[in-house]
Amino acid sequence: MKQFVVIGNPIAHSKSPEIHTTFAEQFGISLQYQRLLANRGAFVICAKHFFEHGSGANITVPFKEDAKQFADVLSDDARLAGAVNTLSQDNGKIKGDNTDGVGLVRDIRDNHGQTFTQKNILIIGAGGASRGVILPIARENPKAITIANRTHEKAQKLTELFSQHTHINAKTFDELNTPFDVIINATSASLSGQKLPLPSQAISTNTFAYDMMYGAEPTAFMQFTKSHGATTADGLGMLVEQAAKSFEIWHGVKPETQDIIENIRSQL
Ligand code: NDP
Repeated sequence: MKQFVVIGNPIAHSKSPEIHTTFAEQFGISLQYQRLLANRGAFVICAKHFFEHGSGANITVPFKEDAKQFADVLSDDARLAGAVNTLSQDNGKIKGDNTDGVGLVRDIRDNHGQTFTQKNILIIGAGGASRGVILPIARENPKAITIANRTHEKAQKLTELFSQHTHINAKTFDELNTPFDVIINATSASLSGQKLPLPSQAISTNTFAYDMMYGAEPTAFMQFTKSHGATTADGLGMLVEQAAKSFEIWHGVKPETQDIIENIRSQL
């Protein structure tokens, strides 16, 4: 039976085993998918040992950058994201991929019926999550991508990194004075329930506001943007869609995602 794991620290909370097992059932694929807790500093030993017999690994916090170093070859998405969340064996080499951005795009486009094409996109945050979604969004041909971040210099660095790939600019929160079509919260502010300094002028009734975080209740960001007329969604679909893209890389088939999204939602 083929072996798969998700490696992280902590890892007990991960929903990946449940998601991948459900996907496998759709195709009658027999596999084992387990959680693997790696000590900080021990990622390489852990990953090497696993790939002596294993077929594929998902990588989560705090090892996504270690996984990028570990991989022999990288996809464009992983290289530009600076992080890997999916490792696979490819002709004796370990290939590193990053499926977070494709997961976000598929959730917003396919599950929520929104489009990025020729739209003004605002991404709040300039950490790993923000960096990982820029290239997949750029492939959708937006009019422009604006990055706003508490530490403005980090937003400026991201624009330099992606300027060859899309129309991209960095703005301070004060400068966000016209409505955006899509606003993505890629900060960790929602984790602590903190409110972002997002001006209401950035939001209109045509705005689709998406929080990468998810939970039983709408986040502070979703509540604020909704109160100014936006349509809102959280990041649960992204979690499932990034898993679906990993599954596709490993097994060559694209799973159906709606049932598992609803199932996990009912457990939150
Ligand atoms: P990082 O630690 O790399 O970056 C955090 C970002 O949040 C930085 O831009 C930071 O700004 C900003 N930030 C944190 N607190 C605040 C605050 N109070 N006000 C304003 N800005 C703040 O984290 P990641 O990029 O890895 O992750 C961000 C979020 O995305 C997490 O909540 C994570 O759970 C989520 N995520 C969801 C996924 C999904 O599948 N749904 C997948 C991946 C991530 P500064 O630079 O100034 O410090």
